[in-house]
Amino acid sequence: MYDLNGKVALVTGAAGEHGIGRAIALRLAREGADVVVADLKVGGNERWGGLDAVVAQIEQMGCRSIRIVASVASASDVERMTNDTLEMFGHLDILVNNAAAPAGPDRVPVVDLSEGVWDLVQEVNVKGTFLCSRAAARHMIERGAGKIINLSSTAGKRGNARYAAYCSSKFAVIGFTQSLALELAPHNINVNAICPTLIDTERVYGIASGLKPADLTSEEYRDQMIETYAQTVPLGRVGQPEDVAQTAAYLASSESDFLTGLAINVTGGALMG
Ligand code: NAD
Repeated sequence: MYDLNGKVALVTGAAGEHGIGRAIALRLAREGADVVVADLKVGGNERWGGLDAVVAQIEQMGCRSIRIVASVASASDVERMTNDTLEMFGHLDILVNNAAAPAGPDRVPVVDLSEGVWDLVQEVNVKGTFLCSRAAARHMIERGAGKIINLSSTAGKRGNARYAAYCSSKFAVIGFTQSLALELAPHNINVNAICPTLIDTERVYGIASGLKPADLTSEEYRDQMIETYAQTVPLGRVGQPEDVAQTAAYLASSESDFLTGLAINVTGGALMG
């Protein structure tokens, strides 16, 4: 549907079996892009091979792929990740800032929120987006083209009780997106954010473990959250990673060349405007 042949993409936070990062990486490859997949760890378990499994799936689709283990919150890791990408593929056309700090310990009232948990959320979600964008933008400016896609959230547009650290980070991602879009527009580089509603990924277990009442397991509360939330979505369901991947593919393609500085809701109508 979109022609990404000859393009090279880098997707952070891509190790999860049911994660948005993996879905985006696969979708970009389906459109023809070579894809670098990165995460804090290779990830995976007895059943799921983490980044290695994503690389294998991309290669099966006829595209090139490598995996890089790096923390987006570390400037030296990000420099290595960018250099390795350029060494392997020669250029970088699409950056997807998808990695996020684990959900759970941050889903508490502000009065109970520890400084360490606050810092981790900002370091991964905000500083990570900054470091990866800065490294990619320096290269994209030289090429005079590029697409940067940042994962924000509906939590980046609307406050939620027990979400202060996460909401703050995702509001920041939208502000960063707008500022960077203005700086990079003269260089023919588009910078946009995606704001998903609840998406059915591993992360929902983390959210459930932070918010659950004492008499329910995380799994029970997760199922309850999904069911209850779906009833509030005009289109009648929570999102799937592929819903987000579809928007990312559009933003990565030339079909969106006149869009920049946006924060696009992927919410089934749960949040409009
Ligand atoms: P997830 O928590 O399942 O996956 C995040 C990935 O980021 C993990 O693989 C994790 O290992 C990785 N990561 C964590 N710290 C890192 C670091 N320092 N360096 C590199 N990688 C690191 O998340 P998801 O549900 O797939 O969501 C992906 C993105 O979409 C996130 O930015 C999230 O905030 C956003 N989002 C998710 C939802 C949702 O309901 N799932 C809704 C709105 C927005």
